[in-house]
Amino acid sequence: MSLTIQPNCTDNPEFGTIPVNTALDMILEAIHPSSNLETIPVQDCYGRVLAEDIHSTIMVPPFTNSAMDGYAIHHQDIPAAAEQLSKLTIIGTTVAGQAFQGKVNQGETVRIMTGAVMPEGTDSVIIQEHVETKNDTITIDSRHQSGQNVRQAGEDIKPGDCVLNKGRQCLPADAGIIASLGIPEIKVFSPLRVAVFSTGSEVCDFSQKATDSSQTTTIFDSNRYSLCAALKPYPVDIVDMGIIPDNPQHLKTAFLEASQNAELIITSGGVSVGEADYTKQVLAELGQIEFWTVAMKPGRPIAFGKINSALLFGLPGNPVAVMVTWCFLLKPALEKMLGITNAPVIPSFQARSLSHIRKRPGRTEYQRGILKPDGHGQWSVETTGKQGSGILTSMCKANAFIVLEHDHGSVKPGDMVNVQPFSGIF
Ligand code: AMP
Ligand code: MG
Repeated sequence: MSLTIQPNCTDNPEFGTIPVNTALDMILEAIHPSSNLETIPVQDCYGRVLAEDIHSTIMVPPFTNSAMDGYAIHHQDIPAAAEQLSKLTIIGTTVAGQAFQGKVNQGETVRIMTGAVMPEGTDSVIIQEHVETKNDTITIDSRHQSGQNVRQAGEDIKPGDCVLNKGRQCLPADAGIIASLGIPEIKVFSPLRVAVFSTGSEVCDFSQKATDSSQTTTIFDSNRYSLCAALKPYPVDIVDMGIIPDNPQHLKTAFLEASQNAELIITSGGVSVGEADYTKQVLAELGQIEFWTVAMKPGRPIAFGKINSALLFGLPGNPVAVMVTWCFLLKPALEKMLGITNAPVIPSFQARSLSHIRKRPGRTEYQRGILKPDGHGQWSVETTGKQGSGILTSMCKANAFIVLEHDHGSVKPGDMVNVQPFSGIF
């Protein structure tokens, strides 16, 4: 008698799987940016996504002014010959917030402070350290340029300039620039409502610890906490739906409720082929859901599709698989839903591996690594140790993913590997 062995991820990794890039392309193709808009005060713009281009109606700076503390002169008073000196009479002082009354003639100068309007008849500023003062005169030499230390009106922004583009997730300097244009309010995309829940009868929240004294059959939920934290930098309203046990009726109710309250549903667990993995069955009944086996490790089984008008990502249950699928599939999808066009480019470069890494071609592997300078101007990387998809400490010890591409084989110490530092991701 012989047994029929079901293929699984440790047998033929290519069996029935789709490459990560194909999965990502299919996800992105199915997603359309949200179109709900709202108007907010400029001081709330950090992290929000612009729903329209920001144009200027004014010049920045609005008037020509001094960039330094010093003396405003006309450039023709700068001596032409190297050894020559010029003596100029100080006829007054001007400070920021005031305009000098009167015209400055050749042979004259005005003491000027940073930000003050350039007096009529002047076009250059000599910094105070470069002049010799005596009574009401200054002496300057020939080492100066026409127009130096002056900020021209409109040199940064001119009326009509498009300063920030639609789709930009605002950074701190953007708040400053919008305010500098005198714009009090901006149109942004409304926050996306995201429902998050964990599935699994063995999963409980740490707040339930008191009632589950033995902890011999249950584990504390980590996925919901990782996912909610990963969502924090985005303009989202999180609908935290807690933990749903492996019970078809409970799951059905939770998915329907999520689809009514959110535009994006993110769940973890229950999408593989275990006996209690009812999620697949319930999802198949409720919506247009596809169940993919993605050629990635960790993170193979994924459900993707729609329940009513809500988009759904059913992530695997293992905590590292959740993080990896978040980074490489969900995060780009969320950014597209939010209309973000300036998501930071994740740096990717080669580092010398200090570790031996076993790997078979046919799937992309995301090992967790510690990346550091090797002291010779290059980077080296070693794995964090145990790489099981349940070893969440591997994420916390790591500062980079070691990305071993689809066709890559095993790695020997000394081989170059691709790395993606976390600092570009989170
Ligand atoms: P599943 O995909 O439901 O078969 O889960 C795979 C593994 O991940 C199992 O060992 C689960 O106990 C574990 N797991 C599932 N959900 C969570 C969660 N929310 N937090 C921590 N571990 C989980
Ligand atoms: Mg489960």
